[in-house]
Amino acid sequence: MNTIRTVLACLALTATSLCAQAQDLLADHVPADRHIRALDSISLFRITPIQEFNLTNPGMELYPEWNNQYAKSYDVKKPNEYTIDLRQFHAPCDSRLVTSHYGYRRQFGRNHYGTDIKLYTGDTVRAAFNGKIRVVAYEGRGYGNYVIIRHDNGLETVYGHMSKHLVRENQTVKAGEPIGLGGNTGRSTGSHLHFETRFLGEFIDPEQLIDFAAQDVRADYYVYRKNAKGTLAGNARAKAPVAANDEAPKRSEQSAPVKRPSKTYLVKKGDTLTAIAKKHGMTVQELCRLNLIKENANLRVGQAIRCS
Ligand SMILES: [Zn+2]
Repeated sequence: MNTIRTVLACLALTATSLCAQAQDLLADHVPADRHIRALDSISLFRITPIQEFNLTNPGMELYPEWNNQYAKSYDVKKPNEYTIDLRQFHAPCDSRLVTSHYGYRRQFGRNHYGTDIKLYTGDTVRAAFNGKIRVVAYEGRGYGNYVIIRHDNGLETVYGHMSKHLVRENQTVKAGEPIGLGGNTGRSTGSHLHFETRFLGEFIDPEQLIDFAAQDVRADYYVYRKNAKGTLAGNARAKAPVAANDEAPKRSEQSAPVKRPSKTYLVKKGDTLTAIAKKHGMTVQELCRLNLIKENANLRVGQAIRCS
């Protein structure tokens, strides 16, 4: 009888974890385009000039106006080249686990304009760079509770599917300042953060700028180029990934294994740093260095630990 009970308990546990995994993998979000088009026409009537810009923030001056509406594009001539200063970066959440990349999603037949990072409802979401909160809103069929920040460096970042907002519109924030709590609102199946980076409305693959596993930017600067691919400049931090999948892969490439920048392990109940290190053939010191944590750090169930 006891054996049967144990087997049943094991089966239940496996089913639960498979379910959670499947949820995360299926996490799909933002067919925001339809909604955005509607918002754009509304925003035309609400544009108000603002004198609140801090003129020492050159990136802010690139934009034609300040308003609190979602905008798909801006009516402004883009510079041929613009250097975006990434040095003040702070990771948008503690998790290092990317669950979905930027690019074309064949199963949905459309583009995914951001990077999805695993988090749990209630986890803190933080501003990625210094800036000013432009939009705090709810969009039931897309982003859910979301925030848009316009940054001093010229980027705008979007944080979607949050359970709670912690900021107001027009408030200035420093990189790393809490702006909301993670969640599963809007078009989302499984708690995660949908994170976008844009320059004057143009999407940039966040992973071109940021190594989420390392919680660092890839270089000091990113040089945006109109009608061409941007490049990294200054001191390199982490290697840039292969270009995002803008198009469906060719037949011959379909079976090729997907290269991931690093291996991540999710902490389970009862795990210790020593056990995790041993499991991955590493010393505790190596593991701590890689994850920027102390050897006596408390581990949380579900916490993502980088193991390579
Ligand atoms: Zn997403």
